[in-house]
Amino acid sequence: MNVSAILKQKGREVETVTPQATLMQAANALAARRIGAVVVVDEHRKVHGIISERDIIRVLAKSGPAVLETPVASVMTRNVISCGETDTLDQLMAAMTTGRFRHLPVTKDGALAGIVSIGDVVKYHLAEIEMEATAMKEYIAHT
Ligand code: AMP
Repeated sequence: MNVSAILKQKGREVETVTPQATLMQAANALAARRIGAVVVVDEHRKVHGIISERDIIRVLAKSGPAVLETPVASVMTRNVISCGETDTLDQLMAAMTTGRFRHLPVTKDGALAGIVSIGDVVKYHLAEIEMEATAMKEYIAHT
């Protein structure tokens, strides 16, 4: 299974903020959507960064609640690893394991085109394993 197949099932909607948004606005978006990260984009949907709940917790613990009024751009991770539509589930798992993060924005022609989280990866990986097991059982039953 590849990213294109995953997005066909889960959809391409991504929660985003601009670099000028405050950390409080990013936290509100995370809470409202019950998600772990938002992608930071400009008006052309070019990816400038990513900010996850971990980034906000880290800076809150270090600097206190006043930091929630600072712009996302000062805290976000700028070196974003993204994936493309032809990347496979195995490649996504490898990228998340190596990079130690749980979110992979999908880009197409330099613009944000979706997102895959570790929850999606686990879900579709399990579905793939179940399909293989069913096919194997059918094969054994008919030989
Ligand atoms: P997460 O596991 O997504 O909560 O993110 C853990 C850390 O990795 C945070 O500092 C994020 O800003 C960063 N991060 C999350 N996703 C990515 C990504 N695709 N590329 C680079 N850094 C990321």
